[in-house]
Amino acid sequence: MINPAFKPWILGLTGGIGSGKSAAAQCFINLGVHTVDADHVARWVVEPGRPALTQIAEHFGPEVIQASGELDRGALRARIFEHPEERRWLEALLHPLINQEIVSDLARATSPYAILVSPLLIESGQYKMVQRILVIDAPESLQMERTLQRDGSSPEQVQAILKAQARREDRLSHADNVLLNDRDPAWLKSEVERLHHFFLTLRGGQS
Ligand code: ADP
Repeated sequence: MINPAFKPWILGLTGGIGSGKSAAAQCFINLGVHTVDADHVARWVVEPGRPALTQIAEHFGPEVIQASGELDRGALRARIFEHPEERRWLEALLHPLINQEIVSDLARATSPYAILVSPLLIESGQYKMVQRILVIDAPESLQMERTLQRDGSSPEQVQAILKAQARREDRLSHADNVLLNDRDPAWLKSEVERLHHFFLTLRGGQS
C-alpha cells in the first residue's frame, strides 16, 4: 500500500540537444524511477480533442490545423515567428496547461524520487518545480555528431538550436550534479546507476 504521507522529491534532468537526456532518462526508467518528459507533455496538450487545440484554431484560424485534425506546427511556428505578440498569447495559453499536467503526472510517482526531463528546464523557469538538478553534459562536437546521426538534420539547423538554448556554462552553474556523457552507452548506464544509489540516500533531494 502507498503511504499517503509519502511524497517523492523531484529531480530536474536537463542538458543541451544531443547531450543524452533521453538516453539517460531511459536508464533511470529502467531502474524504476517515475519520469515525466516536458516535451511529451507539450505535445500532448495540443493533441486533437484537447481544449487547447480548439482555442488555438479559434485564435489563429483553420490554416494552423491539418486535414487530419492535428496541429500544423510549421504553420503555427511561421505565424508566431512573424508576430511576437502571438507568441506571447500562445505561451500564456500553453505554459500553465503544460505545468499543471507536469505537476499532476509527477504526483502519480510511487518511486522515492521522480524525474522531470526538460531541455528548457532553466530557460522556462521549470527548475522552480524541482528540488535538485542533474545536467547531462557533453562537448559541443559530440552533441552535434549525435544529433546529426539521430535526426538527419543539417549542421546549420543543429547550430541554430544550440544557439537558442542556454549556454553550457549557464546550465552547469545551476547543476547540483553533472553527468559527463562523453563515453559509450555502458558508461552512461553505470553513471546513472551510481547517481541513482546516491539519490536514494537523499531526503527531499538534499544530502
Ligand atoms: P537528447 O535527448 O539530449 O537530445 P538523446 O538522448 O536523444 O539526446 O541522445 C542523442 C543521440 O545520441 C541518440 O541517438 C542517443 O542514442 C545517442 N547517445 C546518447 N548517449 C550516448 C552515448 N553515451 N554513446 C553513444 N551514443 C549516445
